[in-house]
Amino acid sequence: MHDKPAIGSTVLGYPRIGPHRELKRALEAYWSGRAGPDAGPDALADTARELRAATSIGLAESGLDSVPGNTFSYYDHVLDTATLFDAVPRRYRELGLSTVDTYFAMARGRDQVAPLELTKWFDTNYHYLVPEIGPDTVPRLVGDKPVAEFAEALRLGVLTRPVLLGPVSFLLLAKRSADAPEDFAPLDLLDRLVDCYAELLARLDAAGAAWVQLDEPAFCADRSDVELRALGDAYARLTARRDRPAILVAGYFGPWGDALPVLADTGIEAVSVDLVSAPETVDQIAGIAGLRDKTVVAGVVDGRNVWRTDLPVALSRCVSLLGSVGELAVSTSCSLLHVPYDLNLETRLDDRLRERLAFARQKVAEVAQLGRALRDPDAAPLSAAVAGPSGRDDRVHARIAALRPEHLRRAPYLARTQAQQARLDLPPLATTTIGSFPQTAEIRRARADLRAGRVDDDRYTELMRAEIERVIRLQERIGLDVLVHGEPERNDMVQYFAEHLDGFAATEHGWVQSYGSRCVRPPVLYGDVSRPAPITVEWSGYAQSLTDKPVKAMLTGPVTILAWSFVRDDQPLADTARQVALALRDEVRDLEAAGIRIVQVDEPALRELLPLRTADRSAYLDWAVSAFRLATSGVAVSTQIHTHLCYSEFGDVIDAINALDADVTTIEAARSRMEVLDDLRAIGFDRGVGPGVYDIHSPRVPDAAEVTELLSAAVRAVPRERLWVNPDCGLKTRGYAEVEPALRNLVAAARLVREGK
Ligand code: GLN
Ligand code: ZN
Repeated sequence: MHDKPAIGSTVLGYPRIGPHRELKRALEAYWSGRAGPDAGPDALADTARELRAATSIGLAESGLDSVPGNTFSYYDHVLDTATLFDAVPRRYRELGLSTVDTYFAMARGRDQVAPLELTKWFDTNYHYLVPEIGPDTVPRLVGDKPVAEFAEALRLGVLTRPVLLGPVSFLLLAKRSADAPEDFAPLDLLDRLVDCYAELLARLDAAGAAWVQLDEPAFCADRSDVELRALGDAYARLTARRDRPAILVAGYFGPWGDALPVLADTGIEAVSVDLVSAPETVDQIAGIAGLRDKTVVAGVVDGRNVWRTDLPVALSRCVSLLGSVGELAVSTSCSLLHVPYDLNLETRLDDRLRERLAFARQKVAEVAQLGRALRDPDAAPLSAAVAGPSGRDDRVHARIAALRPEHLRRAPYLARTQAQQARLDLPPLATTTIGSFPQTAEIRRARADLRAGRVDDDRYTELMRAEIERVIRLQERIGLDVLVHGEPERNDMVQYFAEHLDGFAATEHGWVQSYGSRCVRPPVLYGDVSRPAPITVEWSGYAQSLTDKPVKAMLTGPVTILAWSFVRDDQPLADTARQVALALRDEVRDLEAAGIRIVQVDEPALRELLPLRTADRSAYLDWAVSAFRLATSGVAVSTQIHTHLCYSEFGDVIDAINALDADVTTIEAARSRMEVLDDLRAIGFDRGVGPGVYDIHSPRVPDAAEVTELLSAAVRAVPRERLWVNPDCGLKTRGYAEVEPALRNLVAAARLVREGK
């Protein structure tokens, strides 16, 4: 081991898509297969190298004592780890592609070969590719990305600390391959994989690395004793070797819990703790003697939200660790992957708001400042975050204070369903869609033209109305029972509402990676939320004026709005959710007053905010359910409330879904063959349910026979009066060439099953 410099100040990781999404463009040019100087493999490699250089030089110049390395990825760092250790399933190897194209085949699929499954990275909006591990996976160190990137940075004069996903978390995030026996678990390969990591560490040591960071975030969620023991064994083995850099084990998104003493008992040199999500870890550290000779990296700057840090408070949090630890260092709570690059790119933000914000670059500066303050008591004094939040609205607080339990309750379902049926007169197995219809090039152009000022409001309204009329007539021709206006006016289901609510701000360049080249630009929820004017009433009302059939209005639910925004952290999420819910309640009531008989409140992200630790879940579900009920319970018994959830693996939220008390719940089910209906029956769910019978994630058009079969299975689990017939999700990403026949087949199948065929 080399002499190890103190970590001092650092960040656990950095964005990689590029401040202007350079990597996205380079990837898409490469994938397009276009020839030319800006599209081939060299162009992609050049862009990647420039981004890496800008990151390592930028971080070094910003005054961090320790600069993370290997933070770049062409697509996903979990996929990088899988390919580094040769965990490449056979179906990709057999394609006979180059290394880089095999990598992209795993990420995106190729010809008839499906990609690896994509899933959420803990409770963030980043998605990783799930490695598939089976007994025939033989971990071998076959790549050298971390070593090459270390050497590359060193040539630029920057000594980096390579960041790797740790071996135990890697295996815990992987899944058993389809052909593996039931009793096989990816963790069975740990010993072998640890040997490969040891080999990699030896190479990094030989290349001159003083530190390496191994991320073990899986241990900030609940873990079994077996898994905790595996963690301890793995790091005991890795640290037994001397031909290695010093090891920092990083955990984030929650408390280490029982994993912290386990790590403290191993020979690792440093551990990071997320003091933003788990400030109570300070007390735990004081009780662990094994940390007195280690470096503890205090994650006090929030790595996944956009607020400026209150530096004096953060500093005192660090200082409270002195005496309990060998050496103290300061960092972000997690990688900065989850925040945009640079606040300085924003030109249109209100100054009062801007003063409260910090993006990746600003957070790096905060950490560097904290590092200096810890080292040198004479360093320039730290400034507190700006006091006096902008965006306070006393009217919102007054309305919230006036809420009573009855504002969350509707009449019993039986009374509701009778009143609704009398008003709606729907057949059994009523047919509907989830809300959006295909977003055509013309629709996108109209929205872009409005933004750019090429068309005025009147012309835009005309274009949207024409689209709505077209979609209504199409649905009438197809014979659907409950129609929708098609959501042509919405760019994105959260951004659209954020743009129309007070308390939110939009950024111009605040992109963050969702997966691969896909980025999102979450709105910033900074103040008290209210609705200055009706949002969707004009569109839905217009649609209803065109037809006698009921038109269902669609809104995005409070939890989903929070999940896909950067949310203020100066009050509990539950309080913010209540404000959003109240604004939506106003909208629901206005829709009702405008003659809308069915309102759907979408909560596709209900499960996304579920806390990682089971002990925290019921408190979350309580406020999430309350927010939905507040939004939806202000209407008459005869107004039907629907909700839409984008998944069918309800598991631990099934009771919460029941508690939403929606009259109709539409869910994903086409891929899981209606199994969800049994789960719902098991908990006594007795309201309307629409298991999706058309998988809109695929271009395939299901034929009527297939839908009939799914529905026949469904009527065995749910009485036909309560069964709805609908696609899995919104149709906005599909084309009319698929949507029209698919919906016709869906209607035909519903008729057949209604007639008992
Ligand atoms: N109403 C939305 C749509 O149809 C729902 C989208 C979603 O669930 N993600 O597009
Ligand atoms: Zn959906």
